[in-house]
Amino acid sequence: MGSGTVSAIAGKNSDTMPPLSRRSLLNALLAATATVAAAPALGAVGSGEVDVVIIGAGAAGIAAARRVAAANRRFALLEASETIGGRCATDTKIFGVPYDLGAHWIHNPDSNPLTKLVTGIDVYPAPRTQTLRVGARSARDSELETFLAATLRAQRAMNDLGKAKADFPASRLLPKDLFDWQNTIEFMVGPFATGRELGELSAFDMARAVDRDSDAFCRQGYGALLAKLAAGLPVQLSTPVEALYWDNKRLGVDTPKGNILGRAAIVTVSTNVLSEEKIEFIPPLEKRVLGAAEKLSLGSYDHIALEMPGNPLGLQNDDMVFEQATGTRTAALLANVSGTPLHLVEVAGSFGRELAAQGEPAMVDFAGEWLSSMFGSNANRAIKRSHATRWNDNPLALGAMSGAGPGNADARKVLMEPLGGKVYFAGEAVHETQWGTVAGAWDSGTRAAEAALRRLGALGDGGDDKPVKRRRRR
Ligand SMILES: Cc1cc2nc3c(=O)[nH]c(=O)nc-3n(C[C@H](O)[C@H](O)[C@H](O)COP(=O)(O)OP(=O)(O)OC[C@H]3O[C@@H](n4cnc5c(N)ncnc54)[C@H](O)[C@@H]3O)c2cc1C
Repeated sequence: MGSGTVSAIAGKNSDTMPPLSRRSLLNALLAATATVAAAPALGAVGSGEVDVVIIGAGAAGIAAARRVAAANRRFALLEASETIGGRCATDTKIFGVPYDLGAHWIHNPDSNPLTKLVTGIDVYPAPRTQTLRVGARSARDSELETFLAATLRAQRAMNDLGKAKADFPASRLLPKDLFDWQNTIEFMVGPFATGRELGELSAFDMARAVDRDSDAFCRQGYGALLAKLAAGLPVQLSTPVEALYWDNKRLGVDTPKGNILGRAAIVTVSTNVLSEEKIEFIPPLEKRVLGAAEKLSLGSYDHIALEMPGNPLGLQNDDMVFEQATGTRTAALLANVSGTPLHLVEVAGSFGRELAAQGEPAMVDFAGEWLSSMFGSNANRAIKRSHATRWNDNPLALGAMSGAGPGNADARKVLMEPLGGKVYFAGEAVHETQWGTVAGAWDSGTRAAEAALRRLGALGDGGDDKPVKRRRRR
């Protein structure tokens, strides 16, 4: 583990110098830049320098920190919130059982980078079947068959761009003859999978996304799994980065607790946090980069969590329920989460956004009514405790997962380019095939760390952790 923890640096700084203001940091940076050629060991300001400053301790930030630590380089991992995980965090206080506030489905567990690394945690396959309701009754066999055939056709069609050279709305990929299941399937492949309606999504971006062939769940929660992978990392919590200074030689960040200098920075905050300029970049980000973040703005996805002891709906553990929807005002239910009394009603897309804007009581009312419409009024009465996430209002995320609008798929590539060879973006939005997922965020964090390390000469060409030895040309 690198010794470059923020706390260690903060301690050192406080012994040697008063806390710096934003302006004085800039001056100090410039001074350090000016003296670096003459004296490689920097002055007082440089005494706290790390190799890589990582902003955000969600999946991308944790992956990046692990990679930098593995290369034995000094880093500071700065997190604005009081907890780690970002959009992948598990709460155990609200209901006394694990409750994933963000990500819950571990997509493609066989190739998922997190499940490969973690041990001592209970990951099990998610059921492959779904329960379908038509009004207040279960779907009949013939209706199930129609649904299955329609789903298969939709899945195939979503990957088929034909000979299209120009991007178009992903809604055009979806067949229009999915019978009574049109609205349900539109919800499943649109809002439920991505947080957006298909008409707001790029067909190219959708077709590039890897298929989610299978899923798994973690009994302790996906956030707990991620937290296990962060164990031992020196995360500096409650340390929001307010400004990032980067000129052509030096780099530093400004937090309410003090300033830190680095040789590279990895920025993992969400695209909405970036585009709303919650972090001040000095010099400012080019329009192209800010524009890319805007083009990848976050969709809406929330859990309405209901404690319903005694399995009053008569469903299996982790039973996934959809209804034959008549419009966009629909949801999905994950029942008896990992065998607990917790039920999650999932709302997403434009309906989910409108509902969440009305506040938690309105969300819980909707969930109760929706369940009653399928399972009878006893369902509503069986709710003992409730909670709803409202990610659009969370100032450290400002939404759920990124989606590229039609014509915007290449914005992901823009965010993959480092700025001035020293500022790297990472996070779920910075992944071309696994955007919107924890696995994508993780991969992008690892990739950004490797790019930064390579640039710092900390990786050999073969990707090992030894500095590159330069040979003199004959
Ligand atoms: C409700 C919901 C359900 C989801 N379901 C799934 C699912 O089932 N499966 C799946 O794979 N994915 C799912 N996702 C998506 C998944 O959670 C995200 O793709 C992933 O967690 C994003 O990780 P990240 O590291 O890119 O960003 P984040 O997790 O957002 O991490 C960024 C971090 O930066 C911090 N930060 C923000 N501003 C600052 C600042 N100024 N200074 C320092 N730190 C700052 C934030 O607090 C945060 O911790 C879901 C998301 C939501 C919201």
